[in-house]
Amino acid sequence: MIDVQGLHKSFGELHVLRGIDFHVEPGEVVVLIGASGSGKSTLLRCLNCLEIPNRGTITLDGEAIDVQRSDLNRARQKVGMVFQQFNLFPHRTVLENIIEAPVHVKKEKRDAAIQTARMILSQVGLADKEASYPSQLSGGQQQRVAIARALAMQPQAMLFDEPTSALDPELVGEVLAVMKELARLGMTMVVVTHEMGFAREVADRVIFMADGVIAEEGTPEQIFEAPQEQKTQDFLRAVR
Ligand code: ADP
Ligand code: MG
Repeated sequence: MIDVQGLHKSFGELHVLRGIDFHVEPGEVVVLIGASGSGKSTLLRCLNCLEIPNRGTITLDGEAIDVQRSDLNRARQKVGMVFQQFNLFPHRTVLENIIEAPVHVKKEKRDAAIQTARMILSQVGLADKEASYPSQLSGGQQQRVAIARALAMQPQAMLFDEPTSALDPELVGEVLAVMKELARLGMTMVVVTHEMGFAREVADRVIFMADGVIAEEGTPEQIFEAPQEQKTQDFLRAVR
């Protein structure tokens, strides 16, 4: 579903991604962990064409993304992204937030988009909130709307960048539950998170990034019970 070869990304002098090879199978859930600044967000942003790599190739669902050409919008439609900050439109209702991209980017008919949006809203447990404004919702509810909004584009994979890091602790569980359900339904997912419980329970594979490269990867058991690299051991000791 996602194939990345030899990915490099610099910001000016700062060489952030230093040769990433990365492969995600359809239906696979990959959790990315690593210290702050190791390049996790930059990698996700490259996958979603929010950043343009300096070198390397990205293939989504068999289609090479040519960042020089203007197929960025198509690439963005293939992968949905959920951020730490929910980034909802504050002056639009929940329903309007969700149908915005399907209607204006994908040119779906408004009625059809509303139907789909209502289905997805009940999937994330917010069927009764379609007329609410973001400010009337808790952080956990807002993040579930953000997930619904990404799903409304019917992406083939979902990227999550610390989706629960901005939430009060008591609201983390409801967002993780929605993500678990998505995984159960077979969604291809790449998740950056500090929720090691989620990683253990849901991930098919855990990738540990350090200094812009993949330092170690394996099953949750391999990474959490028997990490091979000193850097992985040090990181896990620090976050536990
Ligand atoms: P992580 O998500 O693992 O914490 P990031 O990918 O956000 O790491 O950042 C990796 C490095 O790249 C950091 O040093 C960060 O300051 C830098 N960086 C990220 N985005 C930009 C940008 N747009 N301009 C300049 N530097 C950036
Ligand atoms: Mg980050």
